Amino acid sequence: MSDCIFCKILNKEVPNYTVYEDDFALAFLDIFPHAKGHTVVIPKKHTEKFVDLNEDEMKKLIVAVKKVMDKIQIVLNPDGFNVGWNERPAGGQVVPHLHIHIFPRYNGDGGGSVHSIIKNAGVISVEEVAAKFRA
Ligand code: AMP
Ligand code: ZN
Repeated sequence: MSDCIFCKILNKEVPNYTVYEDDFALAFLDIFPHAKGHTVVIPKKHTEKFVDLNEDEMKKLIVAVKKVMDKIQIVLNPDGFNVGWNERPAGGQVVPHLHIHIFPRYNGDGGGSVHSIIKNAGVISVEEVAAKFRA
């Protein structure tokens, strides 16, 4: 997509600090890092959502994420990771090209867990939600 910043990175119109690359995916350092080594992994095909990929592409992307994690582990030796993506504006997605964030975590870094993203389960009970899945 011509006005997509990540497509511009793929087209080498915008520079990046590459961490890993294969035929399907590119991983580069986030330019506004929230952790030392904060990296984003993108499919080379422009898609907005994870479900826009077919299952073979999903596997390729997740394998790339694993390889990036291995590389970060060797280079920066973090004590843990948070891995995930923001999907659609309600999920905090700003760049509309699917990207999986990898946040290396370090003991005592002051960060939280993925549970700290949202704490608003509404007034509906877990039982009522479960009933919707059974309907
Ligand atoms: P989000 O869409 O909210 O999941 O996050 C988009 C991420 O892309 C942010 O963490 C930005 O810092 C990052 N970002 C935006 N432009 C660039 C760029 N040119 N190079 C590297 N990272 C970028
Ligand atoms: Zn794109």
